[in-house]
Amino acid sequence: MIVRVLAAAFALGAIPSLGEAAESRCFGTVAQGRIEDSVRLPTSGPNFSAYSRIAAAAGRTHVHSTVARIVETSYRSMETTLPGTVFVYGETGLAEGGRFKPHHTHQNGSSVDFFVPVRDAQGRSVALPTPVTKHFGYDTEFDKNARFEGYRIDFEAMAEHLYQLDAAAKAEGSGLALVIFDRDYLPRLFATPRGPWLRDHLNFMRGKPWVRHDEHYHVDFAIRCDTNRPKSR
Ligand SMILES: [Zn+2]
Repeated sequence: MIVRVLAAAFALGAIPSLGEAAESRCFGTVAQGRIEDSVRLPTSGPNFSAYSRIAAAAGRTHVHSTVARIVETSYRSMETTLPGTVFVYGETGLAEGGRFKPHHTHQNGSSVDFFVPVRDAQGRSVALPTPVTKHFGYDTEFDKNARFEGYRIDFEAMAEHLYQLDAAAKAEGSGLALVIFDRDYLPRLFATPRGPWLRDHLNFMRGKPWVRHDEHYHVDFAIRCDTNRPKSR
């Protein structure tokens, strides 16, 4: 019976084919917007993890379906371009978007915070600790030499990740609308093999952001969203 009902539904085009989730629909801007049918980023993969399982369970890692594909593709690319390098992503947004304290944006599923990839004192690529006691990592303060305790920012890995994010975004007909990262560290990012390309092709925020972006880089993806209007259902 269920099979017959499903078959009828397929014939009518009433439901998407199996394994094909509905695409998200976003509205408004990153600063004033919302989203329908958002998806949650996977909490971990072979070379990446969420900043906090608690925060993910609390619904703080939702994104637009296109953004989810871009992020996952970028991590898959990193498995081959820089094998053994691990990454941590941070806050993205709520299931239905909207105000996302303490962030000023992250409202329509197109913003993602990525924690900086780091190497430990032995030079190994490790996940930056992001405990609750450090506000899930956001309270981490790197010094002027891009060091924090025994960790140092892996600018080469970060630059390669931004490059792969851009490539994955373009393959989805998107792009990186804006990248926010500590201005004092930009010369070090641009001194890496991918640096000159990033400097010439990506839109880094020139002004001073409302909060220091030393421990994470914020990315707004270029996603086409409808004008904001009240929820349709
Ligand atoms: Zn952010």
